[in-house]
Amino acid sequence: ESVFSHVVRAPEDPILGVTVAYNKDPSPVKLNLGVGAYRTEEGKPLVLNVVRKAEQMLVNDRSRVKEYLPIVGLAEFNKLSAKLIFGADSPAIRENRVTTVQCLSGTGSLRVGAEFLARHYHQRTIYIPQPTWGNHPKIFTLSGLSVKTYRYYDPATRGLNFQGLLEDLGSAPSGAIVLLHACAHNPTGVDPTLQQWEQIRRLMRSKALLPFFDSAYQGFASGNLDADAQSVRMFVADGGECFVAQSYAKNMGLYGERVGALSVVCKTADVASRVESQLKLVIRPMFSNPPIHGASIVATILKDRNMYNDWTIELKAMADRIISMRQELFDALRARGTPGDWSHIIKQIGMFTFTGLNSEQVAFMTREYHIYMTSDGRISMAGLSSKTVPHLADAIHAAVT
Ligand code: PLP
Repeated sequence: ESVFSHVVRAPEDPILGVTVAYNKDPSPVKLNLGVGAYRTEEGKPLVLNVVRKAEQMLVNDRSRVKEYLPIVGLAEFNKLSAKLIFGADSPAIRENRVTTVQCLSGTGSLRVGAEFLARHYHQRTIYIPQPTWGNHPKIFTLSGLSVKTYRYYDPATRGLNFQGLLEDLGSAPSGAIVLLHACAHNPTGVDPTLQQWEQIRRLMRSKALLPFFDSAYQGFASGNLDADAQSVRMFVADGGECFVAQSYAKNMGLYGERVGALSVVCKTADVASRVESQLKLVIRPMFSNPPIHGASIVATILKDRNMYNDWTIELKAMADRIISMRQELFDALRARGTPGDWSHIIKQIGMFTFTGLNSEQVAFMTREYHIYMTSDGRISMAGLSSKTVPHLADAIHAAVT
């Protein structure tokens, strides 16, 4: 008998499990709206042309070797990543108050930041929005933080519960960490307005709450890299401290390359350098040092003016296609006379629409229409195309009537 015979089967990951179920379905009309990955109008994964070009340049450069990177990763990548999120003219960067370390995409950056906080920060409670990306509570709990939630989404309006958010952060203990989605909140697609961000900032600074930004969709939400970084830049502009986890999975389509960065903005250069020395102690036993390839692609693109420009054009095209899918789905439901107010489909931001469909309606759509999505009614707009919108609209119509 196996010494592991007592091991019980774990449930599928609630998000990745959607794809497992989809793959098993033989129907030719099946539609996977669970994955958080961009698809072309033909439903295919996309490698950006500028990424292909960067890879070609890297392959042709015979001087490149496969030596280990330093613990903190590729220096050039880290510098450029900080510039991308904080802005080229950021005083915090100029004053050397930012430390940036290369990590394994957004997830790894969150994990490294959280483990540092669990070891070195006086307040081990982190507030995450309700709801949030399903991996957040697991990452923070396993890092040794205690997870609490703040109100965020209002099902009645399918928008932001701003009053609830202010009340919950207002009654959080002084110094508590607050996880904020920089833009394109996952799964709701609901973001605060700039005025609301400013109120959140003032409240948080007045209570010394520590912002931990998760930036997984910079440029992917609006099509504009600077616009999508505004929330982060507001918090940096006031001179206060914050954490930022960046991912290049969506905005450069580098999902499986696992490229990301953690930045810690500190009050002084001296603190930043001491923080970095401790981040190395978190990283070394976790994965020793990060992989070269993806970070080299990013650095190649970010440091070349023309390639950077090409990237912004391809990025905007992805964002625009998603935005046009919102309009097409909204129009299709209107054309069918589907009961209910569906304006949230065009108001929400980023890759996902939080439809408001309940788990029974989702199960019905999967059973009868072979449409796959997470049971909370979240659909990935990036998985839709003009060809598949009518099928989805039919399914939603049937589910709610
Ligand atoms: N944070 C949020 C809100 C996300 O939606 C995702 C991806 O779905 C991530 C972080 C991290 O993704 P990755 O680790 O692939 O960069």
